[in-house]
Amino acid sequence: MRVSNRARNVTLKVNRSQGLVVVVPEQFDQAHIPDILASREVWIKNQLEKFQALPCKFEHDWPPSSVELPGVGVTFEINYVNVTGERIQLHQRDQQLEVGLPERFNNDNLAALFVRWLKTLAKSHCENIAAELSALTGLNYQKLTVRAQKTRWGSYSTRGTLSLNYKLMFLPQHLMRHVILHELSHSVHMNHSVDFWNLLETIDPGSKQHDSQLNDAWRYIPAWLD
Ligand SMILES: [Zn+2]
Repeated sequence: MRVSNRARNVTLKVNRSQGLVVVVPEQFDQAHIPDILASREVWIKNQLEKFQALPCKFEHDWPPSSVELPGVGVTFEINYVNVTGERIQLHQRDQQLEVGLPERFNNDNLAALFVRWLKTLAKSHCENIAAELSALTGLNYQKLTVRAQKTRWGSYSTRGTLSLNYKLMFLPQHLMRHVILHELSHSVHMNHSVDFWNLLETIDPGSKQHDSQLNDAWRYIPAWLD
């Protein structure tokens, strides 16, 4: 229950993190609340059920026992150990990840730590692969940035900045390379003209098919990453 000096009426809200929230005006006689709740019982039940039916991002394989990154050909096994104190710790040794978990920890904090680690990892892998593909094709870029774009896998700016999404590492290798080759082709054609697709096809045979495979490639990304 929340007392609000701005509220004029009693309002009921249901959200995932808090469940049922009752907002009450400051001067309201709280003795009436049980009656109000009783009168809205059906609505409250329906709302709570609706939220429980939604898939939770931490439901499946959480905390993860491994992180598979087919795009860069690496799989990390994750070991969890208990630590004292309040900080979550993360150590990478070769292809092992050791995560130190305090007795009480927050799922969002753990997920955020994984994301930070993945971005750092993506930076070095993307640098290597982009340099390799650039040398192979003779298509250049001035600068590389690795980002957490919400809706796109990559982009190429008129200034020659190649931006890649760190989540590309979760895609099959041929799709990660396809995205980079697509963006590199923009160094010649800053559009999606026939010439653009012809160029892309010469350096990425099957490019149209790869392009359509990207449409549902978000399913390769673990739910806890968003
Ligand atoms: Zn494009």
